[in-house]
Amino acid sequence: MKKVGVLAVQGNFSLHQAALESAGVPASHILTVRTVEELGNVDRLIIPGGESTTVGLLLKRYGLGDAIQARAQGGMPLWGTCMGMILMAKAIEGRDQYSLNLLDITVKRNAFGAQVHSFEDEVQMTGVEPNLLGVFIRAPIVTEWGSAVEPMGWYQSKVVAVKQGKRIGTSFHPELTTDTRLHQYFLSL
Ligand code: GLN
Repeated sequence: MKKVGVLAVQGNFSLHQAALESAGVPASHILTVRTVEELGNVDRLIIPGGESTTVGLLLKRYGLGDAIQARAQGGMPLWGTCMGMILMAKAIEGRDQYSLNLLDITVKRNAFGAQVHSFEDEVQMTGVEPNLLGVFIRAPIVTEWGSAVEPMGWYQSKVVAVKQGKRIGTSFHPELTTDTRLHQYFLSL
């Protein structure tokens, strides 16, 4: 069985580990990834929520960003939630911060306001029926996307989930709900 990695540099990676277990992945097949060497042990990777400026600097400093780019370009499925999607974006509105450039999108950070403006609401999804509950915590939105990118989720007509080949990005946090459909979907890529 394939091994699933969760980037564990900073942020809420443990909830993704728990969600993957609920989705049926044995605990022995869920690995935290903090180094280039550990990335070599997994077949797919989730980049969790957290602080994109901090994690971006660390990915750059320790060469893990280059290694993730190389693996993703080689076909490794990759899913970024919230901070993860920001780090996968090609461009971040109004900021010059490190990103992996693995999704041909522009994101706007903190698009719904500060931490106190965090909320839960239904997201309109294509492919996953019925609709999902989205937990938004200082969440970004996707403001531009290239032709290779398929928008797959909307909240109040803003794009909050995208897919580009085997890479997905979501503004919200499915790992904070008991619904494992998006985890299952990622495992099927
Ligand atoms: N606003 C954070 C950032 O820009 C992301 C928040 C999150 O991942 N929940 O990095």
